[in-house]
Amino acid sequence: MKRAVFPGSFDPFTIGHESIVRRAVPLFDEIIIAVGYNVNKKGYFPLEKRKQWIRSVFNDQPQIQVDHFEGLTINYCKQVDAGYLLRGLRTSADFEYERAIAQVNKAMHEGIETVFLLTMPEHTPVTSTIVRDIIRNGGDASKFLPKGMDIHDSGK
Ligand code: ADP
Repeated sequence: MKRAVFPGSFDPFTIGHESIVRRAVPLFDEIIIAVGYNVNKKGYFPLEKRKQWIRSVFNDQPQIQVDHFEGLTINYCKQVDAGYLLRGLRTSADFEYERAIAQVNKAMHEGIETVFLLTMPEHTPVTSTIVRDIIRNGGDASKFLPKGMDIHDSGK
C-alpha cells in the first residue's frame, strides 16, 4: 500500500495545492492531506474549517483523506504508516527549503521518501499568504481557490 502524506498549513487550501494532489493521485494508493497545527501559532482560518474545505474539494475521492497533526511531520508519517511525503515546488527558494527538510526527515526516518512535484506554471505565484491577504481585505480570491470551496463560510 503506497500511502503518502501531503502536509501543510493550508491556511487556506488553494488551486496550487489542489493541483499537486490531483496530479499525485495516480502515483499513490492513498493520500492523506494533513493540516499541520500548532496551538501557539494557530493561523488565520480555524483548523476545522480548513479541513472541511479540503474535504469538500475531494468528497468524491475515497483515496484522499483529510486529517491534522501536531508536532513533527515525520512522527505523524510513522503514526499513520506512510512511506511517502508529498510536497510541491514553486521556486528555487522552495527547493532550498524543502531540500533541507527532506534530507533531515530522511536522516530521522529511513523509511520515508519525499516526492516533489513541480507546480504548474500558472500556479507559481499562488500562495496561501497572498490569498489570505486578498480575503482579509475584502477582495475576490475565488480564482485562486478550488471549485466548490466556499470560503465565505469561514466564521470570519
Ligand atoms: P507549509 O506551511 O508547510 O509551507 P503550505 O500550506 O504553504 O504549507 O504548502 C504545503 C505544500 O504545498 C508545500 O509543499 C508547498 O510548497 C506546496 N504549495 C503551496 N502552494 C503551491 C502552489 N501554488 N503550487 C504548487 N505547490 C504549492
